[in-house]
Parts: sequence; structure tokens; C-alpha cells
Amino acid sequence: MNCEQEKPKEECGVFGIIGTNDDAASLTFSGLKALQHRGQESCGIASFHKMSMRTFKALGLVTDVFNDEILANLAGSNAIGHVRYSTTGSNLIDNAQPLTLSTKFGEIALAHNGNIINAKELRISLAQAGHRFESTADSEVILHLINDQVTSLENAISKALCKLNGAYSLVIMTKNALIGIRDPLGFRPLCIGRFGNAYCIASESFALQSIGATFIRDVAPGEMIIINETGFKSHQIFQTQRKCCCAFEYIYFAHPSSTIDSVNVEMSRFRMGQELAREYPVDADVVIPVPRSGRHAALGYASARQLPLEEAIFKITQNERSFIQPTQTLRELMVVKTLRVQPEVIRSKRVLMIDDSLVRGTTSVKLVKLIREAGAREVHLLIASPPVQFPCYYGVDISEQTELIAAHMSVDKICQYIGADSLYYLSQDGLLKSLIAQEVCLACFNEQYPLKSSVCLDKLMLNSQSA
Ligand code: SF4
Repeated sequence: MNCEQEKPKEECGVFGIIGTNDDAASLTFSGLKALQHRGQESCGIASFHKMSMRTFKALGLVTDVFNDEILANLAGSNAIGHVRYSTTGSNLIDNAQPLTLSTKFGEIALAHNGNIINAKELRISLAQAGHRFESTADSEVILHLINDQVTSLENAISKALCKLNGAYSLVIMTKNALIGIRDPLGFRPLCIGRFGNAYCIASESFALQSIGATFIRDVAPGEMIIINETGFKSHQIFQTQRKCCCAFEYIYFAHPSSTIDSVNVEMSRFRMGQELAREYPVDADVVIPVPRSGRHAALGYASARQLPLEEAIFKITQNERSFIQPTQTLRELMVVKTLRVQPEVIRSKRVLMIDDSLVRGTTSVKLVKLIREAGAREVHLLIASPPVQFPCYYGVDISEQTELIAAHMSVDKICQYIGADSLYYLSQDGLLKSLIAQEVCLACFNEQYPLKSSVCLDKLMLNSQSA
């Protein structure tokens, strides 16, 4: 176990590339490895070889699922891939992505990060119209909606998107095009890169870096990018008045090296620590981060207060497979098994422990206990984000309010439960300052949901324009 086990889980990561010399699948494999933190239950790659599509999907981590032989069988010039953690649809191989469908536009593969809020209603009406579903994943309705249109592929996709309500960053592959789409509010990140003569689209810029591709830009909220042999075209499908990228991408999900909507993740976490120091200058002798999630905020706090920072908590094992533990009991057991504290750097000291977020509280209870047992005089817990109190409907597994400690306990009660001397959360203002006035979704902190199920996305429809 590691400290990430009780954190919320991102639903997925997507990657696509077009225009390589038959090594699109291998490059997609590398891109998916860099996105592994976004989903560890299943993964898959679909590629086009000459005119036929090949797909390989399985449950497990990217490096366990794929080997040289499988990647050689997927050789082709275009490929898309997906890593998954399920929020809609159970962890079945049928729900692993990319999903594929033989359509009136030819074979199409799709990889989705996000959550379609109205998937159930859409599925019922599509099934009534004769569409047959092969998975329980919400993403499959997108493929069937596209196939339900009688027009060109571009228009079919635009029309299908107008029926969706929710969060979606998509990569779609046809035999001669790679398509990237971000929902009208841009909940999940998506960016475009250049790799020699090839183009790629990825959930995070870190995945582009991992294959040596050059970052071009983020896909804008409501934008569809179509890449084929003539280059890339942009279609602004939806007029967007505001953006709502998930604040948790910056707080925890995204890789620190990634830059999302022009804001670097590592730097934003560092600023969260600085803001925390400004809001709560707690008297302390040493700052320690909760590994790895609290590291950059702890650096920001320590530098703002000119306090020493010590990596006093460390892990015995790095078992990535244990990332997702299904029950509370297992989570708690794994904390004890793998976390250790270095007594020499905290003995008799006032310790200030920093984490990025506090969701269930399980890990914090164990950590505070370990730190006290190691001889700390005081233990103060500072959280570099506001209290998480409300469920998420946009692709993150914060679904059970009962599991959110801040939803049913006051700060004082949580502090007592955790056994800390004090507990402070970064304010919402402090978080926004750290994100440099980014327009972000904060719904799990403040219940202000940017999308309601009644929102009529058709109203946002704009005329397409070529870039
Ligand atoms: S509700 Fe929270 S986790 Fe969900 S998209 Fe908004 S900020 Fe992210």
C-alpha cells in the first residue's frame, strides 16, 4: 500500500498518435506508461494496419499487459490507447478501452476520460432503436450515437456530442484520421503534440514528453481536432463561456511535470503550499510531506516559512498493483505494512505534516500515530486543498458522501479522530490563487456543480470553423 490508496481515483487516461512508421502502437505503449497514474485496472491499444483495425485489451498494468510480441502484432501507423479506472461500468474486460465499432463510416475506435451523466437515458433510447451494446461502459453510447447519424463523420460526431451531458476528453481513431475532443467545459485535460511528422493527442503533456514529442497546445474546451494526412484542423463545436477543468487535476491527479491549460501542475502544488503557509503559519520545527502527494505543497510551505523539510515518511515497497484496494480494512492494513517513519529527524520536534487532500482520513490516522510513536512532540496536519464534502459526477470516484470525512465531521472532530494537535485546510481562495485565477471546477468542495443534468448542450452549438 502507499498513501495514494485512499485518494480519489481518476477515471482514465487517453493517448493517440497518427502518421508514424508502423511504430504507433509502441509509442502509444510508452504514452500509456506515462499515464498509468490515471488508471490501473485495465489498458488497451487499437491500431490501424493498412486498412484493418487490431485491438488488444486486458486487465492490469500497461507493462504487465503488453510485451514485444503483442506490440509487433499491433504494428501500424496510427494507434490510440487507454488506461482505465472504472467509475461507470464494473471492472470487466468488456469495459476495457479502446472500444471499437464497425460503423457506416468504417471501423472506429474510441478512448474516453470522463463520465457521461446522461449515459443511462441515451443507452435506453439507442437500445430501443436497435443498437446492441457489448459493454456496460458509459463511453459506448458515444460510438453508437455517432453511428446513429446519417451525415458525414465530422457532422455525425458533432451531432452525437450535442446529445452528451458530462465530462469527456476523447481520442477517436478511424482508418485515416485521429480525432481529439474536449467537452464544452473542459473538465478533463487533453493536449496535442508533434512527434517528427506524426501528431499525437494525450491526456497530459507528460505523456508527450515521455515519447519525446513536442507540446503544441491544449485542446480547448468544446473543441474537436481532426488530424489526417493533410495536417490538423480545429472545429470549435461548442461555444464556451467558461472553463471548468477539474481542480483535483492540479491538486493530485495529474503528473507534476504536466502543464494543463497553461498552468504547470508542480508549480501550482508548490504555490498551494506557499498559500497554506500564508494562511496558517503554524509554529513548528520541521515540515514533512506525506509521500508522494504532499511533496510539492510541503516544499512550498517550507520555503515560504524558511523551515527545514525532511522526507521523514517513506515506503518499504513500491507495489503499484496495490494502488487500488477495495475495502477500508485492506486500506488500513496496507498503511501499516508499507509506511515507515524516520525517528531521527522528528524526535522531540514539533512536526508539521502536509498532504495534498484529505478524503477518507484513514492514512492520516495511521501516519499521525506513527509520527507520535517515533517521538514527535507535536503533530500538526495541513491540507493543501479545501475539505472534500460532495460527490463528483465528472469522472472521479468521489461518489459516496458517507466516505468523505469532511462531509460528516467538523474540522475539530476530524482533528480529534486523526489524533493531530491541529488541522488546517487551504481555503478555496488560496487554492484559486495557487491556480493563477484558473477557472476550475470546485464542486466537490463547494457543491457548485457546473453541469446539471438538465443543461441543454444543443444551445451551445456553434458553427464549425477550420483553423
Ligand atoms: S467535482 Fe471535484 S473531482 Fe469532480 S471534476 Fe469537480 S473538482 Fe474535480
